[in-house]
Amino acid sequence: MIKKIYPQCHPYWVVDDKKIKNTNVKAIAYISTGHLLPCCWCDFEKAHVVNQYAEYGLFDKDLKVENNESVIDILMSPEWKSFHKMLLEEPEKAPGPCKHHCSFIPNNQDESNYFD
Ligand code: SF4
Repeated sequence: MIKKIYPQCHPYWVVDDKKIKNTNVKAIAYISTGHLLPCCWCDFEKAHVVNQYAEYGLFDKDLKVENNESVIDILMSPEWKSFHKMLLEEPEKAPGPCKHHCSFIPNNQDESNYFD
């Protein structure tokens, strides 16, 4: 069972009670349905994977780009906040691609990236 996710879509992680900068934050993805997703790794065709993200409301009609004034409105939506909270606090519930890609700290990180 997975114990922790180090989301590459986050600007930092907490490791041993210290914050470490993610110097290579993964970009959000704009997908063919007209939605944004936290990264391109979430853009899967298989229905059971799509459903893992849909469960958090990321595919809700209200979150389509065309139905929002700005990208920030989507990123700050309750659905997106809930998704990111889950990644950090309940990693065992994370969708498969998140567990696959983000269950370890990328090896381009070192002590120099720790915040003071
Ligand atoms: S796979 Fe999941 S945890 Fe990793 S960057 Fe993408 S959305 Fe974030």
